[in-house]
Formats: sequence, structure tokens, C-alpha cells
Amino acid sequence: MACIGVSEPGAGSDVAQIRTTARKDGGDYVINGAKMWITNSLQADWMCLLANTSEGAAHKNKTLICVPMATPGVVKAKKIRKIGMMSSDTGLIHFDDVRVPQRYRIGEEGLGFTYQMMQFQEERLWAAASTVQGLSRNIEETIEYTRDRQIFGQAVLDFQYVHYRIAELKTEVEALRALTYRACELYVSGQDVTELASMAKLKAGRLRREVSDALLQYWGGMGFTWDNPVSRAYRDGRLGSIGGGSDETMLGIICKTMGILPGRK
Ligand SMILES: Cc1cc2nc3c(=O)[nH]c(=O)nc-3n(C[C@H](O)[C@H](O)[C@H](O)COP(=O)(O)OP(=O)(O)OC[C@H]3O[C@@H](n4cnc5c(N)ncnc54)[C@H](O)[C@@H]3O)c2cc1C
Repeated sequence: MACIGVSEPGAGSDVAQIRTTARKDGGDYVINGAKMWITNSLQADWMCLLANTSEGAAHKNKTLICVPMATPGVVKAKKIRKIGMMSSDTGLIHFDDVRVPQRYRIGEEGLGFTYQMMQFQEERLWAAASTVQGLSRNIEETIEYTRDRQIFGQAVLDFQYVHYRIAELKTEVEALRALTYRACELYVSGQDVTELASMAKLKAGRLRREVSDALLQYWGGMGFTWDNPVSRAYRDGRLGSIGGGSDETMLGIICKTMGILPGRK
């Protein structure tokens, strides 16, 4: 099992500000620092770690390194308690003079930030695709439940307010599907899909919240119980607008590709 070690206690959205260092010593890197919010890090065999390997400019001084989690000095400091995503553990990991051979480096030294940004494109397309699938399933489950549930002498689904709203939600999900398919098709054909992948991720994060919230309502009290597929989507889906780059990070990228992001002073 692998995990991706980018975020830190002091740097999440602003990846360039990470503080973890990997200093060369003989044929090794000696790693010091901390990674936070790392999915699967408490069970992982190795981490794909982003660290500063020189003092240079923040976008050119970073390197990706494979770090086996059993290496001395890797400390699984904390399992973070969350409001959802219970099927994956999320950890705070400390690195105290962790020594790994330099041949564990991924690609070229100094290109870690660039590689990481490339990886995020795929992660964001995955986020959009998995949202389409998950929400489509939630819509089907809700149709099934509300068709069966009788109130005031009719199925909950037969109230126009309910079936119209479900139709609206499905329309939104299908629009996300079209955007995701288009971005994936262009990506597979070798094009830069930074803008479309960011748009798909943004839309997916928003829809996870909107659709799960609206569907939960139609389950009544059952929607407020723990062992319910839609309440799980409601809890887990909230991460969609934060993890893998927040909605605001996506908006910043889209504005940048559109050429409307003001320059930083
Ligand atoms: C369950 C979970 C799993 C995760 N898994 C991993 C993992 O496996 N590996 C990994 O490296 N990281 C992981 N993360 C970290 C995740 O990528 C970060 O939480 C995310 O990038 C946001 O960083 P932050 O938490 O430091 O928030 P901050 O950077 O402190 O941002 C706080 C808020 O500020 C707002 N904001 C950010 N930028 C802007 C802006 N430009 N303009 C306006 N507002 C802005 C956003 O609303 C953002 O949510 C995970 C996080 C969670 C919660």
C-alpha cells in the first residue's frame, strides 16, 4: 500500500511552502519534517514524499522520494479523527533523521513540484469520475426507497416536488459526466487539461454536497441515521471541496488559465 505525502501541518493549499527537507549525505537522503492528513499513511508500506532538496526557488527546489514506512525515524504520530471517510485512515507522520538511498528518488531532483502538479491532474479527474459514479448510485438508491415509502396515501417519489428535484439532480450529475469524459478524452490524447480537470474537480466537490444533502432529505429520519448510503455520502462527500485541492484552489487555477488572476504583488 502506498500513500502520497505532500501536505504538512503548515502547508496544504500552498504546496510551495512545505518545510520537510531531504539533505544529501553520502549516497543517502536524510529526511526531517512532518506530513499531515496523509491518507493510508498508518498502514502504508511506502510514502511518495515531496521534500525540499535545496534552498532554491520554491517551485524548483523540491524532489519526490520513495520512503519505506518501516525506515527508522518514521514516526506514526497520530491517527486523525474525522467526520467521514472512515474507510481510510488519515495520519500525521514525523520524519526524524530518516535515511533512504538517493536511488529512491523519483525522476529528476528539483522537478518534484512539477511532477506533483502533474499527478494532481489525474487525481482531480479521478475525483470527478468517482463523484459521477457515487452520486448516480445514490440517486438510484433514493428512487428505490422513495418509490417504496408510502405517506399520505402515495409514494414519496410521486410528489412532484420530489421527482422534479431528483430529475434536476440527475441533470447536474450528467453535466459533470460530460465534462469529465471530455477532460479524460483530451488527457488520454496527450493534451494539457489543467483547466478542464480543475473545473471538473470544482463541480464534483460542489455536487457531492448539493446532491447528497438534497437526497438525504427524502429519506426522512432514515436519512439521519448512520448506516445509510446517502448519509454516508453526505459525510464523506464534504471532503470533496477540500481534499486534493480546495474549491478555492481550483478557482485560482481556472482564473490563471483564463488569464484573469491578478498578479501577486
Ligand atoms: C481526509 C483528508 C485526506 C487527505 N489526504 C491527503 C493525502 O493523502 N496526501 C496529502 O498530501 N494531503 C492530503 N490531504 C490534505 C488536503 O490536500 C489539504 O487538506 C487541502 O489541500 C487543504 O489544505 P489545508 O488543510 O492545509 O487548508 P489551508 O491550506 O489552510 O486552506 C484553508 C482554506 O482556505 C481556503 N483557501 C485556500 N486557498 C485559497 C485561495 N487562494 N483563496 C481563497 N481561499 C482559499 C480554502 O477554503 C481552504 O479550505 C487530505 C486532507 C483530508 C482532510
